[in-house]
Amino acid sequence: MAAKKTPMKQIRNMGIIAHIDAGKTTTTEGILYRTGLKHKIGAVHEGETTTDWMAQERERGITIVSAAVTCYWKDHQINIIDTPGHIDFTVEVERSLRVLDGACVVFDGKMGVESQSETVWRQADKYGVPRVCFINKINQTGGDFYKSLESIHNRLSKRAFPIHLPIGFEQSINGIVDLVGMKAYTYKEFTDKALTEAEIPADMMDKVKKYRSLLIENAVAEDEAMLEKYFEVGEDGLSEDEIKQAIRSAVLSGNFFAVTGGDGRGVIVEKVLDMVVDFLPSPEDRGSSWGTHTKTGEEIERKVSESEPLSGLAFKITTDPFVGKLAYYRVYSGKLTAGSYVLNSSTGEKERIGRIVRMQADKREDVSEVGAGDIAAIVGLKGTTTGHTLCDPANPIVL
Ligand code: GDP
Repeated sequence: MAAKKTPMKQIRNMGIIAHIDAGKTTTTEGILYRTGLKHKIGAVHEGETTTDWMAQERERGITIVSAAVTCYWKDHQINIIDTPGHIDFTVEVERSLRVLDGACVVFDGKMGVESQSETVWRQADKYGVPRVCFINKINQTGGDFYKSLESIHNRLSKRAFPIHLPIGFEQSINGIVDLVGMKAYTYKEFTDKALTEAEIPADMMDKVKKYRSLLIENAVAEDEAMLEKYFEVGEDGLSEDEIKQAIRSAVLSGNFFAVTGGDGRGVIVEKVLDMVVDFLPSPEDRGSSWGTHTKTGEEIERKVSESEPLSGLAFKITTDPFVGKLAYYRVYSGKLTAGSYVLNSSTGEKERIGRIVRMQADKREDVSEVGAGDIAAIVGLKGTTTGHTLCDPANPIVL
């Protein structure tokens, strides 16, 4: 059964980027678990995780191949593109950065910025990928949100601003203060099913006010209309929605980074999901793609719209134990339909699209159609490999 299609504005194609051991797997698993698609959190270091497929990466305990897994949060569809964090696989990192629209960068809160996160951060700068940051492991001994933030400021960007502040320190961490909504969200155990809304702890008020002002004055600076309003009515005159809108525009500019932190194993990943939905770009925000006509060599624009001819990129080929060869495919324009014929413009051969599946944490869902901006996996392609363009035979283009 084909599921309901998500409007493009509500799609997020995001990567989770991290230095090895910072908690990428844990955070991904937490997201899949919390979004209700995964009923049991895989044991990370036994290799039983959803995004790690290959034996090689199981052995090394790192993620070196890219795949995509879909989950749903607050009426949004989130396609998580697995981004290799390991430095040896730079080509793979660059390829996945091309396919995603935004990223969540996970840091180890004990270590701050580490070399691999710095490398990938620079690559993301190069590709103009908007980012949000999650400072993980601050609940462990030596974990420190503010020190890690300082190391982001020193090594990556001065324009990283908390949208949440953690409540507590190390083992006593039990929630966050939301600087936009001015509310606290707490838990008793990190395994709690839901966060509890609470009062902002009185002893945090000064800090909360300071970081809220910093957040707002820097977010509005990226948007002229909002900046004018801010000068007119001040910080307290802006509504919660206006502040969120300002942060969103700022994050989309690629030069402003919203930061949160917590225990990535637990319920706080719900706040990471909110951040992804609220601030990371939709495929529409990313805009048109460009390619060349296979015969004339002329440059062609393809708008992110289903009414354009089909174009898209096979960005990863994997072997699935149950359905065989899978080509992960991002549709840039038009739509891909099961049962149709497409042109592999990289080889000149036609391919038949047999089955299209959406990989979820606990199942492969068959879909009959995937529209512009979305990502799915095609089963059974013969001559398509990583990096090939598949497009409408009547409108050949190489991306
Ligand atoms: P990856 O290499 O970035 O995928 O890192 P993993 O997700 O495998 O995490 C490395 C280890 O840190 C695992 O044993 C996790 O259980 C643990 N871990 C991850 N996040 C947290 C956290 O927020 N708090 C605590 N206490 N442990 C964490």
